[in-house]
Amino acid sequence: METGKSPRHDPGVDLRALGNTPQDFARDLLSNLYYERGTTVESASAQDMYDSLARTVRDRLAERRARTAAAHYQANPRWLYYLSAEYMLGRQLEQNLLYTGTTDLAREAVPDFDTTAAQDVEPGLGNGGLGRLAACLLDSLATMDLPAVGYGIRYDLGIFKQDLDAGGQVERPDDWAFQGNPWEFPAPDDNQVVGFYGKVTSVDGRREWEPAETVLGEPSHMLVPGYGTDTVNIVRLWRARAAQGSFDLTRFAHGQYAEAVADVVRSENISKVLYPDDSTDLGRELRLKQQYFLVSCSLRDIIRRFSFRNDGNWDEFAAKTTIQLNDTHPVLAIPELMRLLVDEYELDWDRAWRITHDTFGYTCHTLLPEALETWPVATIENLLPRHLEIIYEINARFLAEVSERFPGDVARIQRMSLVQEEPERRIRMANLAVVGSRAVNGVAALHSQLLAETTLRDFAELWPGRFHNVTNGVTPRRFVKIANPALSDLISSALGSDAWLRDLSLLQGLEPFAADDAFRARWREIKRANKLTLGVAPDFLTDVIVKRFHEYKRQLLKLLHTITLYQRIRAGETPAPRTVVFAGKAAPGYWAVKDVIRLINAVAATVNNDPAVAPYLKVFFPANYNVTLGQRIYPAADLSEQISLAGKEASGTGNMKLALNGAVTIGTLDGANVEIRDRVGADNFFLFGLDAAEAATLRSSDYRPRDYYERDDELRAAVDAIGDGTFAGGDRQAFGGVLASLLDRDEYLTLADFRSYLDAQAEVEKVWLDAEAWTAKSILNTARSGYFSSDRTIADYTRTIWGLDPVRVNP
Ligand SMILES: *Cc1c(COP(=O)(O)O)cnc(C)c1O
Repeated sequence: METGKSPRHDPGVDLRALGNTPQDFARDLLSNLYYERGTTVESASAQDMYDSLARTVRDRLAERRARTAAAHYQANPRWLYYLSAEYMLGRQLEQNLLYTGTTDLAREAVPDFDTTAAQDVEPGLGNGGLGRLAACLLDSLATMDLPAVGYGIRYDLGIFKQDLDAGGQVERPDDWAFQGNPWEFPAPDDNQVVGFYGKVTSVDGRREWEPAETVLGEPSHMLVPGYGTDTVNIVRLWRARAAQGSFDLTRFAHGQYAEAVADVVRSENISKVLYPDDSTDLGRELRLKQQYFLVSCSLRDIIRRFSFRNDGNWDEFAAKTTIQLNDTHPVLAIPELMRLLVDEYELDWDRAWRITHDTFGYTCHTLLPEALETWPVATIENLLPRHLEIIYEINARFLAEVSERFPGDVARIQRMSLVQEEPERRIRMANLAVVGSRAVNGVAALHSQLLAETTLRDFAELWPGRFHNVTNGVTPRRFVKIANPALSDLISSALGSDAWLRDLSLLQGLEPFAADDAFRARWREIKRANKLTLGVAPDFLTDVIVKRFHEYKRQLLKLLHTITLYQRIRAGETPAPRTVVFAGKAAPGYWAVKDVIRLINAVAATVNNDPAVAPYLKVFFPANYNVTLGQRIYPAADLSEQISLAGKEASGTGNMKLALNGAVTIGTLDGANVEIRDRVGADNFFLFGLDAAEAATLRSSDYRPRDYYERDDELRAAVDAIGDGTFAGGDRQAFGGVLASLLDRDEYLTLADFRSYLDAQAEVEKVWLDAEAWTAKSILNTARSGYFSSDRTIADYTRTIWGLDPVRVNP
């Protein structure tokens, strides 16, 4: 080797005689049971058996991982590092069985496979769409043999578990790794030290930060296998540990037990919980600490990896390294890399800035102004004093550039500054991200367009070439193959192979089958069986709205429609039978939508207990929406509700998972709905509502929701039922907050879109009653949604932003 260092993994060594005969697999399972769990088949608990099975599968991935690492070492490629505060990985066992081709072996070797598999716990390391996107992108990167590492935080407690108590959301801690996480490899020797607080001094003309507090970042990694290839990448997760010796033995000896561990607790709190709110700034110092912790550990690890093959050659850094920032949570990476290069490696500012700027890409995930992250200058100054200096220096140089381009345009300079002055001085993280990155992207065509026209307009005018669109996607392996095995088998037999799992555009080949009677009948049978699995009526239209609760997503519009259906049935109408499925979590402090959850369950109780209504309408609210529950819901869905106020949803990915499983969308022209409709065809999509421009105009005018309420009898009746105690045992106050928010503000124009939505639902019902016509639309939705594979998303990133080459792993 030219560096003189030996590779960590020697491909010549047969690490372990792993084989794939039933005997090999059973032997390894027993070996793990005996030597890792210290038990026997006779006395093994379900957890013992699960853990041993997981290790048996993991061993097979680990062997591929070793070959992948060797191939990467040889190639010394350009790397992608994906920085994300969240990953919603979903359950690991079924995926890893599929990817190692050992599903049948496991079913044969494990005495009670289903009980064993049920022990698998989903790591809850994400809030929702953003975290799930990160997981889909990692899956596609590995599948496409691209050299990539995901970096994140190993939260002890992930997103809370949702219970429903008297119809209201109750949050319980999700101690997901309580029984251990067999998929994880600790790597304590790669510890990093992270500093906080303290002061900055000048030493020989250089700035030097002396942190007042340090914490250890201890990494572990989980394996990220590719499908149909030997590549196994990793996601590296950092956990905060107190430095050795932090335990205060003297205090303990004096009975001061809490004080004895105070330092340990303070340090380890940094990775204790994932903040269960993905849209607003909690303004909490601990969250900023988490962000810096992730960034600082990851950058040092990236530099360590770079130095391994390219020691000290900083001019190669940006050629070998591209770092993607998943939203603004990891944006402190920009001043942190500057600090490392200037203060620690003693590069001059201009050279450090060129390297930094050429290294980063930034993905923006929102349009909501309130979700654009900012931090009080005072908080950053206290926690990260040197970073604040660096941000000021970046800002001064940047604003000089703006003044040169737009002399005297003071308003523009104020808007673009990294520092917001009023009502308090804060750092604008999105502005910092755009200034410090060579590429910025939105996550759907409409979103990217609106970003450049509104939210980030000044920046798009200054640097038009910096702005891109990369439409989101989802992995067909998890969301079709694993979630919907019967449909996957049907697709493979129709297409003559399962090559579509690695090239989803092949689904186009299903188009002719929309006109095939036998195929349509089979398609319907599968949907029916999936409904039985979910536990909903197999012959009812399954109408699903499953996503985080947020006012802009307008679960309340779906609920108003549900109430109208109920009232029509009570009045003697007999609509097509349907089950309305609501699922999703609300941020714990977001009372407006927690009231909506309570109201949905109150309506469900009334509807589901009314025998006159039972033949036509049911409302189902399964608790604790997560990836696992989603995998059961998408395959059972007939109708996908994507009804956000136009201009508010960046992309959505639930819409893609549902379309791929043959659900037909009813939606607004928002996020990726626009592209879904373009692809599946306007005839196979139920469109309604204001478009983004109309919504913006109406919101900025004198919008009066009461006018809509007074003009529309059905709307008035539905809204009145919320306020007159119909769903609250006569209590007229129970949902007063929901009522007032609708009639007084209606910030997301629910009432304005109500009639258009009901008209579209009437069209839905008409088509549904013609089962053959509906099934044809369902098939065409799947056939034409191949574009929404995250493989295509990765191909777009690779081409327009990352410039990566695949590295093949030798067998
Ligand atoms: C896909 C997914 C989401 C995103 O749903 P949207 O409808 O795009 O908001 C959120 N949560 C989970 C668990 C998911 O799997």
